Amino acid sequence: MPLSQQGRCAVHPDLPAGGTCSRCGSFFCADCATSVAGLGVRLYCTACAARPDVNYLEALRQRYQGRRDDWAWVVGGVTLLLCVATAAALAQWGLRATKESLFTLVLLIPVPVGVAFFLGQRWARHALLATPLVMAVAADALARNARFLFFLCAIPGLLTALRIHRDVRNQLFFRLPVSPGALKALWDQRFNNPMARQALRFGYSSLFMPLLSPLAVICGAVALTRVDLTATPPIGRRGQAIAGLVLGFLSPLLWWLVLLPWLADLIHS
Ligand SMILES: [Zn+2]
Ligand SMILES: [Zn+2]
Repeated sequence: MPLSQQGRCAVHPDLPAGGTCSRCGSFFCADCATSVAGLGVRLYCTACAARPDVNYLEALRQRYQGRRDDWAWVVGGVTLLLCVATAAALAQWGLRATKESLFTLVLLIPVPVGVAFFLGQRWARHALLATPLVMAVAADALARNARFLFFLCAIPGLLTALRIHRDVRNQLFFRLPVSPGALKALWDQRFNNPMARQALRFGYSSLFMPLLSPLAVICGAVALTRVDLTATPPIGRRGQAIAGLVLGFLSPLLWWLVLLPWLADLIHS
């Protein structure tokens, strides 16, 4: 083929085209061909790859980066509650040099960590993990008779802190680097056809409460129409939508044909 008839890169007219953009269809050269995380083997021109509707994982990152998530508000709220509780306790009993009144001050240990966490200081993420243990050790130092109880109380706090530490949305609030895979998981959880997940939940519930089966059927049907794997970003969860739909149809049948006769037998016998 003569060179003049060959496609040429839209950005570099002196270079031959290596393919066409999956969005706008313009020619790109090998240098301009860009793959986008979460969109498989599709290739885009540089301009399209930068668009938020194409590079949806990067758009998600920018949308959440530095913005407080639910955990940040929970930690902030608990910190405020601890301050109020300590102030109320001190107003009630005053601060005497007895061990019992010093005990109130153990509640103030998490306050600096909580404030720093709410303000997005990165060290507070790690400090939050240590806080339940530090509180247990301090409480143990003040009252030696309940060591087991103190450390038992620290366990739920520690588990919650671990969960917060691993939470991708919370890591975005702290502007930490998050891998495309983790971003994809976050996107899946929040935006990838949530209606299908809801349909499946209604489907399971309808096995116990048949009145919920119309909801399972409706949600499943709507979710099924939303599935589009070729869209950008791709919308999936076809299996969950179908499962919700099927369970929604099956559970009234199950009740009519199996459970009700069985219950009737049970009553008559
Ligand atoms: Zn393009
Ligand atoms: Zn080019």
